Amino acid sequence: MFDITAIPALKDNYIWAIHDDRHAVVVDPGEAAPVLAFLNARGLQLDAILCTHRHADHIGGIAKLREVYNVPVYGRRHPNNPHITDELREGDRLKLAMPNIEFDIIEIPGHVDDHIAFIAPEILFCGDVLFGAGCGRNFEGTPAQLHHSLQRLASLPGTTRVYCAHEYTAANLRFALACEQDNPALNQRIAATQQLRAANQITLPSTIALEKATNPFLRCTQQEIIRTLQQHGLTDTSELGVFTALREWKNHF
Ligand SMILES: [Zn+2]
Repeated sequence: MFDITAIPALKDNYIWAIHDDRHAVVVDPGEAAPVLAFLNARGLQLDAILCTHRHADHIGGIAKLREVYNVPVYGRRHPNNPHITDELREGDRLKLAMPNIEFDIIEIPGHVDDHIAFIAPEILFCGDVLFGAGCGRNFEGTPAQLHHSLQRLASLPGTTRVYCAHEYTAANLRFALACEQDNPALNQRIAATQQLRAANQITLPSTIALEKATNPFLRCTQQEIIRTLQQHGLTDTSELGVFTALREWKNHF
């Protein structure tokens, strides 16, 4: 058995630690100091590092952590990510011994080309592709690639817990509400999120079911969202046309 704990880092990042009472694996350590403090406070040993993609706020702490713990770093290789020791690609399976957990690896380009997701039963580490009530920016690749990647994540079981890498939920919900006013699940999530943030609590993990019910980027066939976008000049009402317009609107929201 293991727990998954969020280690807050940088401005609004979460470094996820998968741990039992002796061993830990961390996902996307953008900073070393909060990870070392977490490990020391709990008397844990670091056994591996998982990396979803190469952005600095996800890999910035790896070199320092590996000075203390000479552990493997699992992820997709990229010229701007010198840290990967063990490359993972679409269809690979990663078996970790301590804690005992197995991940299926899928490639989810569209935020950046080298982005992968780590999927275990009921567990998804999706970095910067799917966020609470939102999705990552389309820095590399096409909107179609990002849309396809999100659709693959949305096809996971509804009970899958979504461990994304940033606390963006409240801001994303403001955009979601601008897209869709008459969605009871969305209004309920906004109230719950406001309560959590007022108490300075984390809004994650969410679930795939909650994202499908409230995240506009997974709801591109909803009539109210299409109508809202039409008021902003949308002409292409295909699912991809709606997704592309949503992503563009959110960039300036
Ligand atoms: Zn990123």
